[in-house]
Amino acid sequence: MKKFFTTPIFYINDVPHIGHAYCTLAADTIARFWRKKLGRENVFFLTGVDENSQKTVDAAEKLGEPIEKYLQKMATIWRETWEKCGIDFDDFIRTTEPRHVRTVHEILQKIYDAGDIFPGEYSGLYCTGCESFLKKSDLDEHGNCPAHKVPPQKIQEKNYFFRLSKFQKPLLELFEKNPKLLEPEKRRNEILSFIRGGLDDISISRENAEFGIPLPWDESHKIYVWFDALINYRSGCPSEDFWKNSCHFLGKDITRFHCVIWPAMLISAGISTPAEEFAHGFFTVDGEKMSKSLDNVISPLELSQKFGNDALRLGLLSAFEFGNDGDFSFAQFENFYRTKLAGGVGNLFNRVIVLIHKFLAGKKPENLNAENDEIFKNFEKLLETKKIRSAIEIFFETVDGANELLNSTEPWKLAKVDLPAAEKVFAKLLQKLEILASMAEVLLPETFPKMQKMLGDEKKVGAPEILFPPVEK
Ligand SMILES: [Zn+2]
Repeated sequence: MKKFFTTPIFYINDVPHIGHAYCTLAADTIARFWRKKLGRENVFFLTGVDENSQKTVDAAEKLGEPIEKYLQKMATIWRETWEKCGIDFDDFIRTTEPRHVRTVHEILQKIYDAGDIFPGEYSGLYCTGCESFLKKSDLDEHGNCPAHKVPPQKIQEKNYFFRLSKFQKPLLELFEKNPKLLEPEKRRNEILSFIRGGLDDISISRENAEFGIPLPWDESHKIYVWFDALINYRSGCPSEDFWKNSCHFLGKDITRFHCVIWPAMLISAGISTPAEEFAHGFFTVDGEKMSKSLDNVISPLELSQKFGNDALRLGLLSAFEFGNDGDFSFAQFENFYRTKLAGGVGNLFNRVIVLIHKFLAGKKPENLNAENDEIFKNFEKLLETKKIRSAIEIFFETVDGANELLNSTEPWKLAKVDLPAAEKVFAKLLQKLEILASMAEVLLPETFPKMQKMLGDEKKVGAPEILFPPVEK
């Protein structure tokens, strides 16, 4: 079996914050889990950036930079941020790349040939911040876009439309057939009631827009940025074998694009629809929405430089269950680092290895082999259903269990009076460390090789190490 994972492609009019990192780290963690299960060659993880937006043009103009130079600079920042955060993607797509433009043209032409695109006149409201058409009913009490607090533009122009209204029934049938088309349940129900409420045809092109991909049959029109952006998942997919098991991760604010427009486009073009889509929730920082005006926007690099990539990953992913909304706080994050990572798993590894050196001269006791399989099976089941936080809990429960065993049996005392009994305790502890290392391959990928080194070979353990060094307040 092959598996294909994607993140949304983010707009690059600004640098990444931990909200973007949250989704990308979650997708990376699930991809790592499947790589461990299926082998590297059977998993493909795609991420990238959305460049064909008026937002990027505006941002470049504000800086007085030529657009190409600006895009190159920002795409590099995004790519390097993910690399520095330890995100192991297989491909990074930019929507200005020729391979993407080619796929967009192919798919648009297919939809056009199927008779699902027609010319018309659009008159209505558009918010550039959202890159989205708005209805009067979407606006707040001041007549502003609720997300951007600015009045939308009034637009009247000739556009091409996608016949989305035609796909109400096929989409409902599709959701009926595939319960994984959108998870969690709450999001799925929202989308189903949206579809049941009836679908309007949507404008898919902007006349005389200065930036974007032109329509293949009418170059005076540029393709609406969302319509082109969704297609990146096809442009970046290595083969049909991967496509069959594609899984999109996305934020809960973009489910209509991903679970209504996107499958309708694919049905029209005669391409199979995604196997799975999963919408994650949003988090506040210390109870407040992250925003520039509040000056509480956190860079993932800030956290990774101070605490390391594994702490960044688990600190974010353990704050609340994947799919829910929650809160992130610095105090909680630092506490997590100190108690769970440094004081928990780090301290455990160090103590056990030091004791084995001291009392058994580093020699490994005979292995007992008991409950490990059960723990790992539960861990797997949770990650198969994308319950990342619960999987992390199993990891730390195992750490706590091992620490309890260590403290209740006190092998450093036992060894002085009954060495064979102490050896048995060490064997049990080593087993726990082995299962922890196995889970760490997915959850703590940068710590995993250090754990392996400490666990040594068949006969001897390695040198003790500090896995999570203390950090200054
Ligand atoms: Zn807006």
